[in-house]
Amino acid sequence: MFYFEKINSKKILKSDLITKAEIFFTTKESFIKTQDKNLIETTNKNKQDICDFLNVQFLISPQQTHSDNINFAEIDGKYPNTDALICTKNNFGIYLNYADCTPVILYDEIKNIAAIIHAGWRGSAKSITIKTLFKMGSNPKDVSAIIGPCICFNCFETSLDTISELKKTLRNTDGLFYERYADLKGINKRQLTEQGVEKIDVCPYCTCCNNDLFFSYRNENMTTNRISAVLKLN
Ligand SMILES: [Zn+2]
Repeated sequence: MFYFEKINSKKILKSDLITKAEIFFTTKESFIKTQDKNLIETTNKNKQDICDFLNVQFLISPQQTHSDNINFAEIDGKYPNTDALICTKNNFGIYLNYADCTPVILYDEIKNIAAIIHAGWRGSAKSITIKTLFKMGSNPKDVSAIIGPCICFNCFETSLDTISELKKTLRNTDGLFYERYADLKGINKRQLTEQGVEKIDVCPYCTCCNNDLFFSYRNENMTTNRISAVLKLN
């Protein structure tokens, strides 16, 4: 179940499914990513608040390109052309950025490793969530998954080519497609359940429908502001 908490009086969104690692989503109040010069100071301040909250010196974030490239976050540095980061260390935080795309977080409580995945329709069509699960080397039964705030079934209208690409990633597509509409949260959930992952929490919020809380690329004229999925191992 999802619920709001606050860092320095600014809303963040959490799930109660995973309590052994620190995992949350920023909102329009606590966001840490923008290209708007007028907002850089705000995001830097929010980032510092999050570092203080997590008790870390720095946060690692990859340069996302809607690929299916997956890397291990090991040192502070650039991670070019990367859309999923696996974290095995607890001395820094990691985050990925979103405005409608699907954020997926996987946590293996036996190995105490986790990953954040950028699974928009391109990543979902390349099964990036499942490729990350494999790269973690985890037993699916040990893995908990959180699917964060993103565009909903009603709001995500796309091309028939994209629908066809997304369908190819699943054995059972029942209930996930309607004409030109696709349920990206449901597709990522089904990809995981078809691999044997059982513990999954799906966020009820849509970035378009709940645009007061979250940024939406489609609903806000291609905004450069982003919400982020943030993770730190304990
Ligand atoms: Zn919606």
